Amino acid sequence: MKKVLICLIFLILILSMPKKTAELTINWDTDNKDKKIYQWVENPNNIIDTSTIALVKAQKQDTTTNKWWEYPDVIYTTKRSGDDLLVLVNKQYKLPSSYAPRDLVKASKSGIRKGENYYLRSIVIPDLTKMVTDAKSEGVDLCIVSGYRSYQTQIDTYNYWLKMNNGNTSLVDTFSARAGHSQHQLGTVIDFSTNEINEKLGDEFSNTKASKWLSQNAFKYGFVISYPKGHENITGYKHESWHYRYIGVENAKSMINSGKILELYLRSYNL
Ligand SMILES: [Zn+2]
Repeated sequence: MKKVLICLIFLILILSMPKKTAELTINWDTDNKDKKIYQWVENPNNIIDTSTIALVKAQKQDTTTNKWWEYPDVIYTTKRSGDDLLVLVNKQYKLPSSYAPRDLVKASKSGIRKGENYYLRSIVIPDLTKMVTDAKSEGVDLCIVSGYRSYQTQIDTYNYWLKMNNGNTSLVDTFSARAGHSQHQLGTVIDFSTNEINEKLGDEFSNTKASKWLSQNAFKYGFVISYPKGHENITGYKHESWHYRYIGVENAKSMINSGKILELYLRSYNL
């Protein structure tokens, strides 16, 4: 009788144990880093029907609406040419791997410090020259710490950050673009720094005179901030006080007058 009771308790225990639930994991296709691969992993030999996977994918999307750094499942090629100053490049729209501006010149042509190390489109140079000169006359030092980045450089940069962060894509996607998604491929984007912080790149820039000067004046020379503070859920990136994109003086003034951030201003021209 005692044995039967023990067996019964044992059986109840087994039956009441929670079943091991399967997990949805996301891997990256090594040949196509933009493509998410959904894998249902419980038992590699156990294939679950696709309707279940579709349901899980839908649930995943529901619960991640506030994960602003994530890439959408569907990625498009940019609607406008990369040469167009108003082309929308973001997490949804990527530049073709074959796109590279044809008019790249050394940034030093504008007189900006450290310009010999970086390339920009020649169309940027006249207004950048004026901006750097005017800033200097007001006691503000500007230097360039990043300019044009090729598609291949973007692959290397993203992989570098991934390696430095133990493969944590969620973290890296908050600040580094995957290949084709970086505005730096346009040749019209500058990451600025200043001698106030020994030409370093990063958050320290926010508290410099140079940063304040740019936030008030850059648009007059055609440059606007791409990833402003408090708009992460729209831009998909953390605030970058140093990253400015050249869209031309008239467009920049029109953008400021519209009260829109760059991302929304460009969407109105590209969707
Ligand atoms: Zn940048």
